Amino acid sequence: MSSPSIDELISLVPTANLIGDRWQEAETSAELPVIDPATEVAIAKIPDSSDADVDRAVRAARAALPSWATLTPRQRSERLMALADALESDLRTMSDLETIDAGHPTGVVSGEITSGADRLRFYAGAGRTLEGRAAGEYAPGYTSMIRREPIGVAGLITPWNYPILTAITKVAPALAAGNTVVLKPSEQTPLTALRFAVLAHEILPAGVLNVVNGRGSTAGAALVTHPDVDIVSLTGGTVTGREVSRLAANSLKRVLLELGGKAPAIVLDDADAAATASALRYSAFWNAGQDCSAATRVIVTPGIYDELLEHLARQVASIAVGDPRDPTTDMGPLTYDAHRDRVLGFIERAVDEGGTVHIGGGRRSGAGYFLEPTIITGVAQSSAIVQSEVFGPVITLHRVPDLDEAVAAANDVEYGLGASVFTHDIGKAMEASRRLDFGTVWINDHGAVSAEMPWGGFKQSGHAKERSIYALEEYTRIKHVMVKLP
Ligand code: NDP
Repeated sequence: MSSPSIDELISLVPTANLIGDRWQEAETSAELPVIDPATEVAIAKIPDSSDADVDRAVRAARAALPSWATLTPRQRSERLMALADALESDLRTMSDLETIDAGHPTGVVSGEITSGADRLRFYAGAGRTLEGRAAGEYAPGYTSMIRREPIGVAGLITPWNYPILTAITKVAPALAAGNTVVLKPSEQTPLTALRFAVLAHEILPAGVLNVVNGRGSTAGAALVTHPDVDIVSLTGGTVTGREVSRLAANSLKRVLLELGGKAPAIVLDDADAAATASALRYSAFWNAGQDCSAATRVIVTPGIYDELLEHLARQVASIAVGDPRDPTTDMGPLTYDAHRDRVLGFIERAVDEGGTVHIGGGRRSGAGYFLEPTIITGVAQSSAIVQSEVFGPVITLHRVPDLDEAVAAANDVEYGLGASVFTHDIGKAMEASRRLDFGTVWINDHGAVSAEMPWGGFKQSGHAKERSIYALEEYTRIKHVMVKLP
């Protein structure tokens, strides 16, 4: 079967807003281009929505709320299961759209779609387990019970690095708990969210899922400030998280933040150098390093440093960078031009500050936002490439004397999302996992996730949990009902 052309793929996506029961043009005719990052060609246009468009979507979500919230969990579950089935049936189209929009290689992108289906199914089941924790007589002459209720209209704002997966990660628990949703995907990568809306339109009641396109500073901000939005969930950069918190403050809505990361990987002398290098190849360079949990800082004790660097260089040199439509490609382009330039800027500054580019370091000639996978050594802990989220295919290697110094260096950033430690000494591994100030700690791996286990950061990486039953609870409110006994 031949691959569909870009025009054929784009024809499967209404480049409009899904509001209530129909696809609607935005109030103004302003549009935003959608660029294929592998070719730099504009492949579609989406509405540059305004406050008025957001308001219409919020009204539609509000109108749909009473009937969606009062369905039984089983009835909602059946819809989410049907949506998961529809998503899997659409695997090829969804995957192709993510490839042309975000540059994710065709050989691996389908895993993001199947993970999305898995998360929908997880929440379809988990939504049926929600219950109040207490029922009993806690005051003389009274009986009490706890109800868990949906919060209301959820405004969900998602980034461009895993466009459909981050959208589903929010939509699934929000809907399972009985909320209705207005989703604003990143303007950089809207296509799979729009395709998902096509599927949802057939399965969910009108207004339960609305999608509004547009820029963060306009459509996103309008959603955050809207008085009739009860909860906002953002996955994005830390700067955006602060701005969204500020914008939400006036209406005192609940805000869930999943923000940036700067993950360390601690490698101790007794680790298996070859296996560790292989794990780091995937965790640091997956999705061209555009991953909030990417292992960006490899912190190594002296006895294994040289051996690890040798293995790592071999692993990184074997990464096939190229056209994401080619099934043999491991790493595609970065997702947009300004971001590619920002990552290059970090590399250049690191070199100016005395760092050594061990491998990579440059862009690939020709069209597309491609960068070489890069290893840098000899940078100071205080340098920008160590302290800031680079979000590209770049790792820095650091030599430290022992575990204590490794943990200190690992914790010495403002982020606290994910971290790992590689060692065969279970005592040291457990000690490190206790002292690492990160929301997830992996031992002898980095980056593995599951729908059942929570994900979320500490410090400037945010304060919400996604995936797992904890995320479902984030989308509920607790009510105490107290009955005076006769
Ligand atoms: P941004 O913070 O730039 O944008 C995230 C989303 O917020 C986009 O939809 C954006 O819209 C929107 N937005 C921007 N400004 C505002 C505003 N003032 N009000 C409301 N919405 C706004 O992040 P990126 O898209 O660049 O994504 C990368 C970031 O996401 C990285 O920092 C990464 O670490 C983080 N991330 C965190 C994860 C986690 O689980 N903790 C997982 C994945 C990514 P638009 O793009 O249209 O302008």
